[in-house]
Amino acid sequence: MTILLLGSGGREHAFAWKMIQSPLCEKLFVAPGNAGTAAIATNVAMSPTDFDAVKAFVLQENVKMVVVGPEDPLVKGIYDYFKNDQSLQHIPVIGPSKLGAQLEGSKEFAKEFLIKHNIPTAAYDSFTAETVEKGCEFLETLQPPYVLKADGLAAGKGVLIIQDLEEAKTELRNMLVHEKFGAASSKVVIEEFLDGIELSCFVLTDGKSYKILPTAKDYKRIGEGDTGLNTGGMGAVSPVPYVDAVLMEKIESRIVKPTIEGFQKDGIEYKGFVFIGLINVKGEPIVIEYNVRMGDPETEVVIPRLESDLVALFLSVADEKLDTFELKIDPRSATTIMVVSGGYPEDFEKGKVITGLETITDSIVFHAGTKLDNGNIVSNGGRVLTVTSYGDDFQQAIKKSYQNIDKLSFDKMYFRKDIGNDLN
Ligand code: AMP
Repeated sequence: MTILLLGSGGREHAFAWKMIQSPLCEKLFVAPGNAGTAAIATNVAMSPTDFDAVKAFVLQENVKMVVVGPEDPLVKGIYDYFKNDQSLQHIPVIGPSKLGAQLEGSKEFAKEFLIKHNIPTAAYDSFTAETVEKGCEFLETLQPPYVLKADGLAAGKGVLIIQDLEEAKTELRNMLVHEKFGAASSKVVIEEFLDGIELSCFVLTDGKSYKILPTAKDYKRIGEGDTGLNTGGMGAVSPVPYVDAVLMEKIESRIVKPTIEGFQKDGIEYKGFVFIGLINVKGEPIVIEYNVRMGDPETEVVIPRLESDLVALFLSVADEKLDTFELKIDPRSATTIMVVSGGYPEDFEKGKVITGLETITDSIVFHAGTKLDNGNIVSNGGRVLTVTSYGDDFQQAIKKSYQNIDKLSFDKMYFRKDIGNDLN
């Protein structure tokens, strides 16, 4: 079959790498893709949110399935666009409906869903410009630190955690009245701070049944020792050594099951990934967020550990037959280390020629921000490449990734040298 994959990051390169290994995949298009996907599939210069262009392409190329990587097209309703168009409705889209995507598109929607279905989450209230003073009063009833979340999509920057009460009030006003995050902060969720260890749980669902994918931990900060600014992610490890069977059972029975049952009770069509952000507070998992797609760079360690055929897995989701699918997981550890442009996540330069890629044979290099330029592979974003390795344990896998990163080079290349150190 012919498949169209939407997106351009390391996550999409990892999906593409796995999908082309399937005998079911005859032709793979990636829109817009990067230099990594160009080497294994056909890139298409098309925006994933230009649905009319996607429609024309799908019909022209006789595409039989669309897999959506990032959240934007999902929140904008690509699933519903296909479902409501007679010429497209037979083509499955792997991703939630527009209503389901609100779990990521609106923090308030997610909180209401969590409360309604009795899923453990932090206490909260939400406020608008009209109720900003009530928001300040609510802050006074809480203990520091204060957690302020812009309701809408804010490119991963919409959450503020503030120690000082007066500063929290000022930031609340900045968000609500001065549109700090534009329309995304026209509503703000104020949430109780949860003190514990963060972890992510990835689930694939056909709306009725589900499969829990391997656990992964990512490293968000730019600096070693988890310091400095937040990034899209600087590395990841799977499985997470501190997640044991007891914790997993709690996550499944208290969070995953009620989430999928909630979709059915609320009439939410959902055929895709649910990425649940959790905080483990003294052994009790509590939800802090839903994302409606896979994480990046977590995908670059989770997908390589999938032994099953990914295209067959997506087809079982489309056909609502996920319950009969046998998910096979590679028992080895996988780790990935992100290589970024110097200056990221603030200002950085693009167009730097990357060398050494062809020398790496025992790790997988997934491209993120790269493109082809006059026969060279050059940097084209903040996060440039990520080097994924397998090992009998995560230490062995990490060692291999670092050995291979040493063979890569581009001007102002940077990566964290402490990925996994906290797990030793
Ligand atoms: P979110 O986008 O909701 O995941 O929030 C971004 C980050 O803020 C999370 O990865 C956590 O580190 C932190 N965070 C969010 N909500 C809370 C909370 N209620 N308590 C403590 N930390 C939080």
